[in-house]
Amino acid sequence: MADHSGTTSSSPPTTSPTRYDVDVVVVGAGFAGMYMLQRLRSLGYSARAFEAGTGVGGTWYWNRYPGARCDVESLEYSYSFDEELQQEWEWTERYSSQPEILAYANHVADRFSLRESIQFETRVEAAKFDEDDNVWSVRTSDGQTTVCRFFVMATGCLSSTSLPTFDGIEEFGGTTVHTGQWPKEGVVLKGKRVGVVGTGSSAVQAIPVIAEECDELIVFQRTAQYTIPARNAPLDPSTQADIKSRYSDFRDANFAMPQALGAEIPKFNDSIHDVSDAERERRFENAWERGGTLFMTSFNDVLVDESANVYAQDFVRQKISETVNDPAIAAKLTPHHIIGCKRLVIDTDYFETFNRSNVSLVDVSDDPIEKITTNGLLTQTAEFELDVLIFATGFDAMTGSILRVEITGREGLTIQEKWSAGPRTYLGLTVPGFPNMFTISGPGSPSVLTNMIISIEQHVEWISDCIEWLDSRDASTIEAEINSEEEWVKHVNAKADRTLFPSCNSWYLGANVPGKTRVFMPLLGFPGYARRCEEVASNNYEGFVIQ
Ligand code: NAP
Repeated sequence: MADHSGTTSSSPPTTSPTRYDVDVVVVGAGFAGMYMLQRLRSLGYSARAFEAGTGVGGTWYWNRYPGARCDVESLEYSYSFDEELQQEWEWTERYSSQPEILAYANHVADRFSLRESIQFETRVEAAKFDEDDNVWSVRTSDGQTTVCRFFVMATGCLSSTSLPTFDGIEEFGGTTVHTGQWPKEGVVLKGKRVGVVGTGSSAVQAIPVIAEECDELIVFQRTAQYTIPARNAPLDPSTQADIKSRYSDFRDANFAMPQALGAEIPKFNDSIHDVSDAERERRFENAWERGGTLFMTSFNDVLVDESANVYAQDFVRQKISETVNDPAIAAKLTPHHIIGCKRLVIDTDYFETFNRSNVSLVDVSDDPIEKITTNGLLTQTAEFELDVLIFATGFDAMTGSILRVEITGREGLTIQEKWSAGPRTYLGLTVPGFPNMFTISGPGSPSVLTNMIISIEQHVEWISDCIEWLDSRDASTIEAEINSEEEWVKHVNAKADRTLFPSCNSWYLGANVPGKTRVFMPLLGFPGYARRCEEVASNNYEGFVIQ
């Protein structure tokens, strides 16, 4: 590591080649930013993180809506990098609630004294690479500029909320709130008429809880949802003790799974077409009873062959019709697209909630939202009076939080220009033209198709190893070659094109954000990806220019 000096200044610094404030600036103090900080500091690097919120936790800091809960099991959705940490923390439920995950994030921050390296309530607004001195100047919302050698975007895949532009929204006399920016002090729902726009994961979790609390709930649905029971339950202490007694083997087994999770769930590698009707139903029934997102792994072709997919669709459709009492409501709640091409949702009593007398459903694909009024929401055919209007309308996923920072690389090229036709990366970690900049779980990496915490750990370790390697050779920059990017983008697309993922309008494709270029952003298959990252590193960072 080179010597460094200097302090944060309020005007753009005039740097000599060796002058910088910290080795690394990290954007965000969610699970990615926290581990990046911990790892860098443990290796002796100076690092500073900037975080817009008042506390750590990232997505779990912002998504405080009622019912918010992880869809990866607690004993898997946790850091594995520190044995004592994974032994000492006790999870209470199969799937952790948002408050419990946020408490865990705070515990990690305390345990590793991370807060001293985090500046809260500060947004990174811009970052510019200085080609003369090979440093990044990072401008923050407090008017300061911090100069660093490496710049790490740990901004999360689902942190930039997406709010459609509805006419009249500012005229609404009640309370409006987005699930992804739920206020810390909560929202009063008791005794209120509440509207929820959207039926993605956030809404599916929130709706049953809100229905219990409010007077009247109206759900505005554009696309009906396939959702599988979560079967959340208190975590049996003996199960927890058993896994903790063999935690590192358990982690290794999950690391070898396509989604970096679910190693202990029965695996099947046969086609749905090769089993009897009875066996097909038995497997789906078992997966339904077991609960969780791995419903689709009951056969090897449900996500690659449309005729196989139809069996899974039919199974869930049948469950909906058995659960929802009113056939007209059941029909509206019945999805018709490919199951799994939008992220599969898991729920607790979602369909059951539509049997309640205080819950109604409006299909806005049939009867579109015209505008928000002073009193509520107007569709083409009716006005619905509301006190609280909740937008569960999702995120500008994977690229939104990167693109809202004005990032300028070599020759004045901005990331906004570079990605104007969709994100392009090498390994989902780096972008040609932006030396010494890394994205954690960026587009082109497995990220959202995996257990995010495991993907984060793999990225953080790769990035910190890379920085150490550069310093060991006195190299000042690493930059992806344009050919590497080209091949990587083809590889990501080819993997997606062999599946049914590109077949519907999902946020994986950016299709939920008007005007966003349609590109399948995450990479399928974690173990192959992790191996490729290791090969690249052990081949002296092939595909990169090192200077
Ligand atoms: P989402 O899956 O993108 O769902 C957004 C919903 O809003 C969709 O139903 C969408 O309808 C609807 N919508 C968007 N614009 C609309 C408009 N103009 N009019 C009417 N409806 C509109 O967002 P999300 O539910 O926040 O979930 C995003 C992701 O976050 C999840 O897929 C998951 O990866 C993650 N998440 C995870 C958990 C968990 O761990 N359990 C919980 C919450 C979120 P269309 O389908 O028609 O576009």
